[in-house]
Amino acid sequence: MEDCLFCKIVAGDIPADIVYQDADVTAFRDINPAAPTHILVIPNKHIAAINEASAEDQALLGKLLLVANQIAEQEGLAEDGFRYVINTGGHGGQTVFHIHLHILGGRQMDWPPG
Ligand code: 5GP
Ligand code: ZN
Repeated sequence: MEDCLFCKIVAGDIPADIVYQDADVTAFRDINPAAPTHILVIPNKHIAAINEASAEDQALLGKLLLVANQIAEQEGLAEDGFRYVINTGGHGGQTVFHIHLHILGGRQMDWPPG
């Protein structure tokens, strides 16, 4: 999609520190990390928010989670634990309107979140 920052990262038009990419999914380090490890996992397909996904995206969303698991393992987060976050809409704190799963790790997370 034109004018979508994350579509441009998928296409290679904007540089990013990409840790994983295949035909369906791309993962890259967050430019403003909120934890020692902070990676965003996104579908290559433009979907603005998780609640705009449809039944045809079922396998894609499943793959997003499984790729995230693989990255968490590779980044050495699995033993101590980590957090997945999908901010959605205004109250959810979403600022980029292309689905992204945050992987946060390397420190103790607080609950409830801010
Ligand atoms: P949201 O607030 O929508 O859940 O998360 C958007 C995330 O994208 C933020 O954590 C922000 O730091 C990250 N971000 C915004 N612009 C860029 C960029 O150009 N490159 C990368 N790597 N991350 C970005
Ligand atoms: Zn997009």
